[in-house]
Amino acid sequence: MNGHLTAGGLAEVQRRIAAAANRAGREAAGITLVAVSKTKGPEAILPVVQAGQRVFGENRVQEAAAKWPALRREQAGIVLHLIGPLQTNKVADAVALFDAIESLDREKLARAVAREMARQNRRPACFIQVNTGAEPQKAGVLPEGADRFIGLCRDELMLPVAGLMCIPPVDEDPGPHFDRLAAIAARNRLAGLSMGMSGDFEIAIAHGATQVRVGSAIFGERVVPPARPA
Ligand SMILES: *Cc1c(COP(=O)(O)O)cnc(C)c1O
Repeated sequence: MNGHLTAGGLAEVQRRIAAAANRAGREAAGITLVAVSKTKGPEAILPVVQAGQRVFGENRVQEAAAKWPALRREQAGIVLHLIGPLQTNKVADAVALFDAIESLDREKLARAVAREMARQNRRPACFIQVNTGAEPQKAGVLPEGADRFIGLCRDELMLPVAGLMCIPPVDEDPGPHFDRLAAIAARNRLAGLSMGMSGDFEIAIAHGATQVRVGSAIFGERVVPPARPA
């Protein structure tokens, strides 16, 4: 996919965010677009940066650490979000690289992140991932455990908890999941709601998303390149 198409994808997503905000009686400025650049190389990312996008999401620490230091030398003001699962042995790298960590979901990880933030004197914004569909294969704290875990992160570990994140089950109406996340956030007085992807970000905005994570609608489908013959 060439630069014109990816920058065009960005403009179209921005237009759809503004329209969805307008329909919901909300300000588009209250919705942050996280452009999900996982699997994409600099040739796809740079045109989107040049078109003015600054906030990007990656789901793997190692991939992001390989790609973004060079891109950040090209452009100041890049804001990087980790949106994928985080293993405790990658916490130091994640705290060093990312400006937000959206996948806090267990006590051991929260404690490791708190320790590392103190050690590095860096405080990326934290989002707590909630497994709203209670799917066994999916990361996230279960909805019934969310209040307790938010309390641990915010009050005991003093993490900068900005909000909640969810990924609804693929085969269900996402609206009730977005409402569930919004209700947990409201009763815990958390303002940030990271919800909505390419297939459902307009619905998420109608349900109160403050942050949408959009990949393929900007960059095109992610294709795994076929293995080359040796
Ligand atoms: C890949 C990914 C996205 C973006 O998905 P698209 O459907 O390409 O927009 C959003 N959130 C998370 C957690 C992801 O892993």
